[in-house]
Amino acid sequence: MKIVLASRNKHKIGELQALLRKHVPDIEILSLDDVGFTEDIVEDGKDFFENAYIKARAAASTGYIGLGDDSGLSVRSLGGAPGIYSARYAGEHGDDEANNRLLLENLKDKSDRYAEFVCVIACVFPEDINRGHFFEGKTGGVIIDEYRGRGGFGYDPLFLYEPMDKTFAEMSAEEKNSISHRGKAIELLAQKLKTL
Ligand code: IMP
Repeated sequence: MKIVLASRNKHKIGELQALLRKHVPDIEILSLDDVGFTEDIVEDGKDFFENAYIKARAAASTGYIGLGDDSGLSVRSLGGAPGIYSARYAGEHGDDEANNRLLLENLKDKSDRYAEFVCVIACVFPEDINRGHFFEGKTGGVIIDEYRGRGGFGYDPLFLYEPMDKTFAEMSAEEKNSISHRGKAIELLAQKLKTL
Protein backbone atom coordinates (compact mmCIF):
# COMPACT_ATOMS: atom_id res chain seq x y z
CA MET A 1 0.00 0.00 0.00
CA LYS A 2 1.50 3.33 -1.08
CA ILE A 3 0.46 6.55 0.61
CA VAL A 4 1.71 10.11 0.14
CA LEU A 5 2.30 12.23 3.24
CA ALA A 6 2.08 15.98 2.56
CA SER A 7 5.61 16.64 3.78
CA ARG A 8 9.13 16.92 2.42
CA ASN A 9 10.71 16.05 5.77
CA LYS A 10 12.52 12.70 5.40
CA HIS A 11 12.66 12.20 9.18
CA LYS A 12 8.90 12.67 9.53
CA ILE A 13 8.24 10.28 6.62
CA GLY A 14 10.55 7.60 8.05
CA GLU A 15 9.08 7.90 11.54
CA LEU A 16 5.48 7.60 10.32
CA GLN A 17 6.36 4.64 8.11
CA ALA A 18 8.05 2.81 10.99
CA LEU A 19 5.06 3.34 13.31
CA LEU A 20 2.47 2.32 10.70
CA ARG A 21 4.43 -0.78 9.63
CA LYS A 22 3.81 -2.27 13.07
CA HIS A 23 0.17 -2.56 12.00
CA VAL A 24 0.36 -2.59 8.19
CA PRO A 25 3.68 -4.29 7.28
CA ASP A 26 3.53 -3.61 3.54
CA ILE A 27 2.85 0.14 3.80
CA GLU A 28 5.14 2.56 1.99
CA ILE A 29 5.02 6.27 2.83
CA LEU A 30 6.09 8.56 0.01
CA SER A 31 7.04 12.21 0.36
CA LEU A 32 5.83 15.00 -1.92
CA ASP A 33 9.30 14.97 -3.49
CA ASP A 34 9.03 11.21 -4.19
CA VAL A 35 5.95 11.83 -6.34
CA GLY A 36 7.21 15.03 -8.01
CA PHE A 37 4.74 17.38 -6.29
CA THR A 38 6.40 20.79 -6.41
CA GLU A 39 3.57 23.25 -5.63
CA ASP A 40 3.43 25.15 -2.36
CA ILE A 41 0.54 24.14 -0.13
CA VAL A 42 -1.12 27.15 1.48
CA GLU A 43 -2.20 26.22 5.00
CA ASP A 44 -4.87 28.84 5.54
CA GLY A 45 -7.36 26.75 7.49
CA LYS A 46 -8.97 28.04 10.68
CA ASP A 47 -8.19 24.98 12.79
CA PHE A 48 -6.07 21.80 12.90
CA PHE A 49 -8.73 19.85 10.98
CA GLU A 50 -8.88 22.29 8.06
CA ASN A 51 -5.11 22.53 7.76
CA ALA A 52 -4.68 18.74 7.89
CA TYR A 53 -7.37 18.35 5.23
CA ILE A 54 -5.82 20.99 2.93
CA LYS A 55 -2.53 19.09 3.04
CA ALA A 56 -4.09 15.64 2.62
CA ARG A 57 -6.16 16.80 -0.35
CA ALA A 58 -3.06 18.20 -2.06
CA ALA A 59 -1.27 14.88 -1.47
CA ALA A 60 -4.25 12.92 -2.84
CA SER A 61 -4.24 15.04 -6.01
CA THR A 62 -1.22 12.96 -7.03
CA GLY A 63 -3.47 9.91 -7.41
CA TYR A 64 -2.27 8.17 -4.24
CA ILE A 65 -4.05 8.06 -0.89
CA GLY A 66 -3.08 11.39 0.73
CA LEU A 67 -2.23 12.11 4.35
CA GLY A 68 -1.83 15.50 6.00
CA ASP A 69 -1.15 16.30 9.62
CA ASP A 70 -1.32 19.41 11.72
CA SER A 71 -0.42 19.72 15.35
CA GLY A 72 0.24 22.23 18.06
CA LEU A 73 -0.06 23.24 21.67
CA SER A 74 -3.31 24.57 23.11
CA VAL A 75 -2.99 26.32 26.48
CA ARG A 76 -6.23 26.65 28.46
CA SER A 77 -5.54 29.93 30.24
CA LEU A 78 -4.46 31.49 26.92
CA GLY A 79 -7.77 30.67 25.25
CA GLY A 80 -6.23 27.81 23.24
CA ALA A 81 -3.17 29.73 22.00
CA PRO A 82 -0.76 29.18 20.36
CA GLY A 83 -2.92 26.53 18.62
CA ILE A 84 -2.51 26.47 14.84
CA TYR A 85 0.12 29.20 15.19
CA SER A 86 2.36 27.02 17.42
CA ALA A 87 5.27 26.89 14.97
CA ARG A 88 5.38 30.69 14.60
CA TYR A 89 3.99 31.91 17.93
CA ALA A 90 6.79 34.46 18.37
CA GLY A 91 6.84 35.50 14.71
CA GLU A 92 9.46 33.50 12.91
CA HIS A 93 8.48 30.00 11.74
CA GLY A 94 10.25 27.30 13.72
CA ASP A 95 12.05 29.52 16.26
CA ASP A 96 11.47 27.14 19.19
CA GLU A 97 13.53 29.17 21.66
CA ALA A 98 11.59 32.38 21.00
CA ASN A 99 8.28 30.52 21.07
CA ASN A 100 9.08 29.00 24.46
CA ARG A 101 10.17 32.35 25.88
CA LEU A 102 6.96 34.02 24.71
CA LEU A 103 4.89 31.18 26.15
CA LEU A 104 6.49 31.63 29.59
CA GLU A 105 6.10 35.39 29.37
CA ASN A 106 2.39 35.07 28.59
CA LEU A 107 1.90 32.58 31.44
CA LYS A 108 3.83 34.66 34.00
CA ASP A 109 0.79 35.57 36.07
CA LYS A 110 -1.37 32.54 35.34
CA SER A 111 -1.97 29.89 37.94
CA ASP A 112 -3.81 27.57 35.54
CA ARG A 113 -1.00 25.84 33.63
CA TYR A 114 -3.04 23.14 31.89
CA ALA A 115 -2.22 22.59 28.21
CA GLU A 116 -2.90 20.01 25.55
CA PHE A 117 -0.87 18.91 22.59
CA VAL A 118 -3.21 18.16 19.70
CA CYS A 119 -2.51 16.25 16.50
CA VAL A 120 -4.97 15.83 13.66
CA ILE A 121 -4.21 13.54 10.74
CA ALA A 122 -6.44 13.75 7.67
CA CYS A 123 -6.68 11.00 5.10
CA VAL A 124 -8.10 11.69 1.63
CA PHE A 125 -8.79 9.08 -1.04
CA PRO A 126 -8.07 10.24 -4.60
CA GLU A 127 -11.46 9.05 -5.87
CA ASP A 128 -13.30 11.04 -3.16
CA ILE A 129 -11.18 14.16 -2.83
CA ASN A 130 -13.85 16.31 -1.17
CA ARG A 131 -14.08 14.09 1.87
CA GLY A 132 -11.60 13.91 4.71
CA HIS A 133 -11.26 11.10 7.23
CA PHE A 134 -9.89 12.47 10.49
CA PHE A 135 -7.84 10.98 13.33
CA GLU A 136 -7.28 13.15 16.39
CA GLY A 137 -4.93 12.59 19.31
CA LYS A 138 -4.64 14.79 22.42
CA THR A 139 -2.35 14.63 25.43
CA GLY A 140 -2.79 16.82 28.50
CA GLY A 141 -0.04 18.23 30.70
CA VAL A 142 1.14 21.36 32.47
CA ILE A 143 3.50 24.09 31.37
CA ILE A 144 6.37 24.41 33.83
CA ASP A 145 8.63 27.44 34.38
CA GLU A 146 12.02 25.75 34.00
CA TYR A 147 13.25 23.84 30.98
CA ARG A 148 13.64 20.12 31.67
CA GLY A 149 15.30 17.63 29.30
CA ARG A 150 17.26 17.83 26.08
CA GLY A 151 15.31 15.59 23.72
CA GLY A 152 12.44 16.34 21.38
CA PHE A 153 11.67 19.69 19.80
CA GLY A 154 9.35 22.68 20.06
CA TYR A 155 7.61 23.07 23.41
CA ASP A 156 8.79 19.66 24.68
CA PRO A 157 11.07 20.91 27.52
CA LEU A 158 8.22 22.96 29.06
CA PHE A 159 5.48 20.35 28.74
CA LEU A 160 5.28 18.15 31.84
CA TYR A 161 3.35 14.91 31.45
CA GLU A 162 2.37 14.34 35.06
CA PRO A 163 1.61 10.58 35.03
CA MET A 164 5.29 9.94 34.20
CA ASP A 165 6.65 13.03 35.97
CA LYS A 166 8.66 13.76 32.83
CA THR A 167 8.58 16.49 30.26
CA PHE A 168 8.34 15.37 26.63
CA ALA A 169 12.00 16.38 26.32
CA GLU A 170 12.96 13.90 29.07
CA MET A 171 11.34 10.93 27.32
CA SER A 172 12.82 8.49 24.85
CA ALA A 173 11.21 8.52 21.41
CA GLU A 174 9.42 5.25 22.31
CA GLU A 175 8.07 6.67 25.59
CA LYS A 176 6.85 9.83 23.89
CA ASN A 177 5.21 7.90 21.02
CA SER A 178 3.36 5.70 23.50
CA ILE A 179 1.49 8.60 25.09
CA SER A 180 1.83 11.57 22.72
CA HIS A 181 -0.89 13.31 20.71
CA ARG A 182 0.87 12.20 17.51
CA GLY A 183 1.25 8.60 18.70
CA LYS A 184 -2.47 8.45 19.50
CA ALA A 185 -3.53 9.92 16.14
CA ILE A 186 -1.21 7.52 14.27
CA GLU A 187 -2.64 4.60 16.22
CA LEU A 188 -6.18 5.55 15.13
CA LEU A 189 -5.02 5.99 11.52
CA ALA A 190 -3.33 2.57 11.59
CA GLN A 191 -6.57 0.92 12.72
CA LYS A 192 -8.34 2.48 9.71
CA LEU A 193 -5.60 1.54 7.21
CA LYS A 194 -5.68 -2.03 8.45
CA THR A 195 -9.25 -2.34 7.21
CA LEU A 196 -8.47 -1.28 3.63
P1 IMP B 1 3.56 20.37 13.08
O1 IMP B 1 2.17 20.62 12.61
O2 IMP B 1 3.80 18.93 13.46
O3 IMP B 1 4.60 20.92 12.15
O4 IMP B 1 3.73 21.17 14.46
C1 IMP B 1 3.53 22.58 14.54
C2 IMP B 1 4.20 23.12 15.77
O5 IMP B 1 3.53 22.67 16.95
C3 IMP B 1 5.65 22.71 15.97
O6 IMP B 1 6.52 23.57 15.27
C4 IMP B 1 5.81 22.85 17.48
O7 IMP B 1 6.01 24.19 17.84
C5 IMP B 1 4.45 22.43 17.99
N1 IMP B 1 4.43 20.97 18.26
C6 IMP B 1 3.67 20.04 17.64
N2 IMP B 1 3.91 18.82 18.15
C7 IMP B 1 4.85 18.99 19.10
C8 IMP B 1 5.52 18.09 19.99
O8 IMP B 1 5.33 16.86 19.99
N3 IMP B 1 6.40 18.65 20.83
C9 IMP B 1 6.67 19.98 20.87
N4 IMP B 1 6.10 20.85 20.06
C10 IMP B 1 5.17 20.37 19.19
